[in-house]
Amino acid sequence: MRENIYKELGIDDKVFAFGESIREKLKPRFEAIDDRAEAGQLKVLKAMQEEQVSEACLGSSTGYGYGDTGRDTLERVYARVFRAEDALVRPQITCGTHALALALMSNLRPGDELLSPVGKPYDTLEEVIGIRPSRGSLAEYGISYRQADLKEDGSFDYPAIKAAVNERTRMVTIQRSKGYADRKSFSVDEIEELIKSLRGIKPELIIMVDNCYGEFVLDREPVEAGADMAVGSLIKNIGGGLCPIGGYIVGRKECVENAAYRLTSPGLGKEVGASLGVLRDMYQGLFLAPTVTAAALKTAIFAASLYDAMGFKTHPLPDAPRNDIIQAIRLETPERLTAFCEAVQAAAPVDSHVRPEAWDMPGYEDQVIMAAGAFISGSSIELSADGPLREPYNVYFQGGLTAPHGLYGMLKTVQYLTERGLAELP
Ligand SMILES: *Cc1c(COP(=O)(O)O)cnc(C)c1O
Repeated sequence: MRENIYKELGIDDKVFAFGESIREKLKPRFEAIDDRAEAGQLKVLKAMQEEQVSEACLGSSTGYGYGDTGRDTLERVYARVFRAEDALVRPQITCGTHALALALMSNLRPGDELLSPVGKPYDTLEEVIGIRPSRGSLAEYGISYRQADLKEDGSFDYPAIKAAVNERTRMVTIQRSKGYADRKSFSVDEIEELIKSLRGIKPELIIMVDNCYGEFVLDREPVEAGADMAVGSLIKNIGGGLCPIGGYIVGRKECVENAAYRLTSPGLGKEVGASLGVLRDMYQGLFLAPTVTAAALKTAIFAASLYDAMGFKTHPLPDAPRNDIIQAIRLETPERLTAFCEAVQAAAPVDSHVRPEAWDMPGYEDQVIMAAGAFISGSSIELSADGPLREPYNVYFQGGLTAPHGLYGMLKTVQYLTERGLAELP
C-alpha cells in the first residue's frame, strides 16, 4: 500500500490525501509529458545508431587523449541530437558557467560588445561579463556589455533591442531559463522570433543561447531556431543524472572550434583532452535524459499545483506551458524558504540526515540556501531546491531523477510547512 510507505516516510494522512487529489487532476498533463519524452528518447536513440556508437566508444583515454574515438563519436551524437554542425562535450568543461564563459571568451575579441536582449543574465555570468568587477572578466579584455530589459509583461522590448545594437555589437546571449530572475522562461518558438528580429537588425551577429535546464523540455532545441550556439551543463538535464562533470557547446562549426581552441590551446583544439573514464556515463546519461527530464517536469508541475492550491504564488503557474524544469514558489518569509529546503534535503537518498544552511556561495551576490542530497555533488537534475535569501524569498526548485522521488519530496515540503504552522492545507 502506497499510503503505508508514505506514512513510514513521514507523510501524514491529510497531506497524502491532498497529494492524491492533485495527482488525479494532473493525469492528462503527465501523459503529454510522457509522449514528449518518448519522442526525445527516440531522437537520442536514432543519433546513437546513426553514429554507430560501439562498446569501444564507452572506454577511456588518458594523457593527451589523441584519437579518442569515444569522445569524438559522443560529440557527433550531440551534434545530431541538437541538429548542429558541431559539438564540444568535455569533462574539462567544469560546469555551466565555464561552458558559457568559454563560448563568450572564444568568440569575442577586444573592442567587441556583447548584448543581452532578455535583461540581466544569470548571477554567475555577471562576473564573467564584468557587470560585477571580477578578475579575468570580459570587461578586463576590453569587451563591453549592454542589455535591453524585458518589458513589464516579460516580453521582448524590440525598440530597446534595436537601439542597443551598434557597430560594436558582435555577440548576443539569450538565457532561455529564468534562473534566479522573476521572469518567465522562453520557449524555443519565442527565441526563434527574437533571433529573426536580431538578424533583421544585424545579420552577422553571433547568437548564443544559454540552454541550461532547457534540454528535452520541448521537441526542438535553440540551434533549430537559428541560434549559432547553444550551451549547457552536463549536471543538469542533458547528463540524465549520470554525468559526473562536464559542459557542452553545440552549434556552428566555426563557433565550436573557436571554443575548442580556447578550452585547450590554439593549434590543438578538439584533438586533445582525455576522457578519463567518464564516457560511459555521458552516453548513458544522454540516453536517459529525456525520461529524467520528464520526471523533473512532473515534479515541478506537481509542486506548482500543490502550492497554488495552498494559496501561494507560483512561477510558472501550475497549468502554464513549460520551457524549462525550474519551478519558483514565492514563499515570502525566510522561515518558509528554510523549511522547504530542509524538507527537500530530508527527502533525499543521500545526506537526508543533514540540515542545509544559507552560505556565501562563490559567484552569487546574496546568501543562498541549497538543498541537495545528490549522488553527483551539486547536480540540479537531481531533486534540489535553492533560493537566495532576499525578498520575496522565492524558492527555486528543480529536478527529480524519477517521478516517484520528486513527488514524494514535494509532499515532504508540504508536510514540513504545515507541521510548523507556516502553511495550511486547502
Ligand atoms: C545553472 C545555470 C548556469 C550556470 O551553470 P553552473 O553549472 O551552475 O555553473 C547558467 N545559466 C543558467 C540559466 C543556469 O540555470
